[in-house]
Amino acid sequence: MTENPTSSLPVPGRVAGRVVIVTGGARGIGAACVRRLLAEGARVVVADVLEAEGAALAAELGEHAAYVPLDVTSEDGWRRAVAAAEAAFGPVSGLVNNAGIVHVDPIETLSEADYRRVIDVNQVGVFLGMKAVIGSMRRAGGGSIVNISSTGGLIGYSRILGYVASKWAVRGMTKTAAQELGPDGIRVNSVHPGFTRSEMTADSARSHEQARHQPLARQAEPLEIAHLVLFLISDEAGYCTGSEFVADGGFTSL
Ligand code: NAD
Repeated sequence: MTENPTSSLPVPGRVAGRVVIVTGGARGIGAACVRRLLAEGARVVVADVLEAEGAALAAELGEHAAYVPLDVTSEDGWRRAVAAAEAAFGPVSGLVNNAGIVHVDPIETLSEADYRRVIDVNQVGVFLGMKAVIGSMRRAGGGSIVNISSTGGLIGYSRILGYVASKWAVRGMTKTAAQELGPDGIRVNSVHPGFTRSEMTADSARSHEQARHQPLARQAEPLEIAHLVLFLISDEAGYCTGSEFVADGGFTSL
């Protein structure tokens, strides 16, 4: 991918020709990213542990989408996923590291196993994903990596220590990766959604209640996060790397 600083205004097909892997793409924010990127001309790989949902989404979207089974904690799984993406569509020029889990417990009763499980998916998964796509992105001539962090990567939240630790880590990992990969034409940024309507938050009283007291007094729709991800994958963000992009209805302004 050649970044062209003189390219003009956004046109339909803002990511035409890109090959983008979206982890956790079977539902929620990830699925919204898949749909948005596809609508703007990308070839998109839905990479998720949810085989039925991922395959159904790819089938619904047609020949420019494919489902690849991926557990983001597996380095072998990542090798297979990138190889499958290349075989289907060509070198990978976009990665949305979106897969994530949350575990709710106060520190005092939080088990080591539950803490490590969250770190493994949300933090180690992002490391393995960035590592896995570098060679393919070089072959593509460059690329854009978007790591989905959270407002939990900007502030603290009680009872989700592992989640907050992982999301702060993702923010720092993003900056380090941006420094290492800039010379290859690979941009790396983090996105920090606030309270967003999804299965992750469906049973979260805190998500519903706290959103009511922020400047934009509602949860985000997944599509509102996907718009930001699309921008960062596209050349419109050609001078953006190593940065945080917040979409939180004003929550962290309070
Ligand atoms: P979700 O639970 O609807 O979706 C998460 C997806 O990740 C699912 O499809 C799930 O199968 C997949 N996944 C989980 N573990 C995986 C693994 N090991 N390998 C591959 N895929 C795996 O939740 P969501 O709200 O859409 O969350 C998407 C991302 O956005 C997460 O990283 C989450 O932390 C982040 N986020 C969400 C909110 C929110 O309020 N919903 C706020 C800030 C950040």
